[in-house]
Amino acid sequence: MSLLEFDVIKQYFSKITNTINDSAIPLAIGDDAAIVSLPDDKELVICTDTLNEGVHFPIETSAYNIAYKALMVNLSDIAAMGAEPKWFTLNVSLPSINKTWLESFSKGLADLSLKYKLNLIGGDTTCGPLSITITLAGHINKNKALTRASAKIGDKVYVSGCTGEAAYGLACLSDPHSTLPTSAEYFISRLNKPTARIELGLSLLGIANACIDVSDGLLADIAHIVEASHCGVQLYSENIPVPDMGDIKQARQYALTGGDDYELVFTVEEKKEQALNQLINETDLKITCIGEVVEEQELKLLDSSNNIINIDKLGYQHFS
Ligand code: ADP
Ligand code: MG
Repeated sequence: MSLLEFDVIKQYFSKITNTINDSAIPLAIGDDAAIVSLPDDKELVICTDTLNEGVHFPIETSAYNIAYKALMVNLSDIAAMGAEPKWFTLNVSLPSINKTWLESFSKGLADLSLKYKLNLIGGDTTCGPLSITITLAGHINKNKALTRASAKIGDKVYVSGCTGEAAYGLACLSDPHSTLPTSAEYFISRLNKPTARIELGLSLLGIANACIDVSDGLLADIAHIVEASHCGVQLYSENIPVPDMGDIKQARQYALTGGDDYELVFTVEEKKEQALNQLINETDLKITCIGEVVEEQELKLLDSSNNIINIDKLGYQHFS
């Protein structure tokens, strides 16, 4: 490790560790590896995601927002499992050592770490094109995780919030020549600073059968449930929330195929509906029933007269 790299770690990253005192971390940044301990009744839940400049975020994205998003996309995966996030590692590849950039990047990480009581326990710092990989681990009671594979025929399908908002935010950013609506700021913040549905995921334990977070698009991610659960899903187009942006046709397209929203889609069987309704009453988050799980292993989108809408025309790619 060069002296420069050591300084970067010490100045910008090591202070994010032990932001939250956690007795379950006997050893964090500074040794060859970190050590964490796990309560007897829990199992580890681990996910990782890489963000590359120009691919996963526009080149002009601020360092704060890049850090925020890199951690948030992982939080969303942990949320979809119904787990509690705890520790993360950070691998950064940096084109140069820019103090202002690093200051703002580590602030983004520190703010979110504080909010979700996370500790940064290690990582790697290298020189190269801008790329950030975060590996996030959390825990959950043994055998309780929500997976994509446990949807049951007859379950209702629900979505949190409104998908397509981040896609519209990206469209607003990509078209700097048009006059942006006053609401553009909201949609752009949904793209840059999404909110992982950690609390919802935890509340769905014991209620939901299957769960997935919407990172690739509503249809694409529900197709993963179809594939993993060996069942079909029928979606009712009219019930699906769409971004409040005027052009209803475009809004529907974004809601069905736009990625990066990090909402949760989950399935609930009839006998758990009462518990779900109670949860819905207690949360500010919008939760909408958008369809049901059926036997025939296919993803179908129906209009208000129960006619099948051709989803291939929506730019949705079938899983092969
Ligand atoms: P080694 O050469 O033993 O792999 P490094 O020099 O890569 O060690 O890292 C030294 C310490 O700093 C390790 O504990 C490592 O986990 C931590 N570290 C390195 N880069 C980062 C980073 N970007 N964020 C957090 N911790 C880091
Ligand atoms: Mg190393």
